[in-house]
Amino acid sequence: MKSAGDQIKFAVRLAQSDVSTWRPGDLLNERDNLRKFVTTRGDQYYGPFLSQPMVPPFPGDYTQEDFNKLQAEVHMILEQVTHEFGSFKSTLLPTLTLTLMSFQGAPLLQMSGSTRDVFLARLFFLLNEEGVENIKICPECSNIFWQDVKWQKYCARRCSNLASVKRFHRRAKKKKGKKKK
Ligand SMILES: [Zn+2]
Repeated sequence: MKSAGDQIKFAVRLAQSDVSTWRPGDLLNERDNLRKFVTTRGDQYYGPFLSQPMVPPFPGDYTQEDFNKLQAEVHMILEQVTHEFGSFKSTLLPTLTLTLMSFQGAPLLQMSGSTRDVFLARLFFLLNEEGVENIKICPECSNIFWQDVKWQKYCARRCSNLASVKRFHRRAKKKKGKKKK
């Protein structure tokens, strides 16, 4: 996950996934992705701050249940940002700790806390910096997705096909209705 966009895409993918269908291999992969998201290293994009989870459960110990809770929260947050207006729910990050350090004369902010708190704090900063215009709701299945190109309207080929089949049937029905008269 080298760029800010890649990191936001990971959050979107988590929000749209059904954690209960994950196989053991998926769980291992997602733990690794989670660790990369919350732990900053020199070789990746980390924005204006460093971060590291300091309160368990750590990403390597995340259970399907932990992912399920995180998925629900991320989904709620991303769904909110697709609305232009409306009431926005605040998120409490009870273990989040910020430390302002100095590195070679420049300020350096470090975030630590539980995996969940660091994850959500990073997500907020990323969305705030990068914008939310690529996060959309699929009109066919209501799932959240990342819009890769401007004209992409549905989350997947399956939904876009389904929508065109429905359009076809609606037109066919209209025609039939006219013929009867
Ligand atoms: Zn869809």
